[in-house]
Amino acid sequence: MKRCHNFNAGPAVLPVPVLERIREEMLCLPGVGMSVLEISHRSKTFETILSETENRLRRLLNVPETHHILFLQGGASLQFSMVPLNFLTRDGVADYIVTGSWSEKAVEEARKIGRVNIAATTKEENYARIPNQSELRLDPQAAYVHFTSNNTIFGTQWPTEPEVGTTPLVCDASSDFLSRPLDVSKYALLYAGAQKNAGPAGVTIVIVREDWLERIPGGLPTMLDYRTHVKHRSLYNTPPVFAIYVVGLVLEYLEAQGGLAAVAAASAEKAGKLYAAIDSGSFYRGTAERNSRSLMNVCFRLPNPDLEAVFLREAAANGFEGLPGHRSVGGIRASLYNALPMESVLALIDFMRDFARRHA
Ligand code: PMP
Repeated sequence: MKRCHNFNAGPAVLPVPVLERIREEMLCLPGVGMSVLEISHRSKTFETILSETENRLRRLLNVPETHHILFLQGGASLQFSMVPLNFLTRDGVADYIVTGSWSEKAVEEARKIGRVNIAATTKEENYARIPNQSELRLDPQAAYVHFTSNNTIFGTQWPTEPEVGTTPLVCDASSDFLSRPLDVSKYALLYAGAQKNAGPAGVTIVIVREDWLERIPGGLPTMLDYRTHVKHRSLYNTPPVFAIYVVGLVLEYLEAQGGLAAVAAASAEKAGKLYAAIDSGSFYRGTAERNSRSLMNVCFRLPNPDLEAVFLREAAANGFEGLPGHRSVGGIRASLYNALPMESVLALIDFMRDFARRHA
C-alpha cells in the first residue's frame, strides 16, 4: 500500500488529504445518507457542491464577474472543436500560435471550420522554445488568437501571455491551470482538462467572457454551444458529478495551502531544484531552451537511448512512476504538478545523481 513517487503527466498525482477525504465520504456524504456517486445532479446537495466549487475557483483564480465558469465534458480535445465552432466563421480567420502537438491538434480542428493563420511556430526547432513577441505575425482580422500556455509533451511554458492587442485571447491552459495566478481579464476564453493540477479526468473547466458569447452564430448543436452551458449553469445535462466534487476538494486544499501565489512559489522551488540537478553536469540534458522551460513538465535526455531505457527501468524498480517521455518524443519527462511533494523531487534528484555516477 506504499504510494509511489508519481511523476505522471495526467491523470496525475492528487493531494493525499483530498484522497483521504474522498475515502471518508465514500459511503456517505455527511448528513446525506449516500455517496456523491449516488446522488442526483438535480439535488440540493449537488447544487451546493457545484456552486461552492465555482465560488472557490472564482476566489482562487480571481475570476472577474465578466466571466462565466463552466464544467464540461469531452476533455480539452473537445474545446479544440468548440472554440472554432462558436467563434470562427467559414470565411473568417483565427490566429494560432503553435508550440507543440496539442496546439497542432487545435489547429487541425479549427481548419475544419474556417481559415487558420499560423501566427508563429517553433516546429522547426523541435518545439524547444516559446516564440518571442516580435516573432508573432498576428492577423488584424483574426476572430481570436489561440495559444497553449504549457506544452505538456515538450516541456515548455509561456512565462506570461502573448500581447495580442484587442483581438480576443484564447488559451489551452490544460497543463498549467491552477499552478500560478493569472489575469483572467486578459482572456476571452480559457480552458483546461482537470486531470493535471485541478482534479481527476472527466471534467474540463472553461472560463469565458460574457460579452464574447454574443458572437456565437445560431444553429449550433445544443451541446456544442457555450450558451447552453452558461444558461443552464453546467446543468443542461448530467455533469460529471464525481469529478466536479473532487475538483472542489482540490480547490479547498489549494486555498488552505495559501492560494496560487504560494502554489507557484512551491512549483518554482521544485522545478528549480530539478533543473539545477540536470544542469549540474553533462550527463543529463534539458530539451527546452532555458527561458522557455516549463515548471510543470521537466523534459530531459541522457547520453543515448539505451541508457535512457536502463534509467527508466531502474527508476520504475525504485518507485518512480510516469517518467518516460511522451511516446512521440521519447526521453524522460518528470511532471511536477501541485500535488507532487518536494520529497519526490528530492528522491528523484538523489536517484539521478547515483545513476549518473554509475553510468557516466
Ligand atoms: N492540451 C494539453 C496542453 C494537454 O496536455 C492535453 C492532454 N494531456 C490536452 C490538451 C488534451 O486533453 P484531453 O485528453 O483532456 O482531451
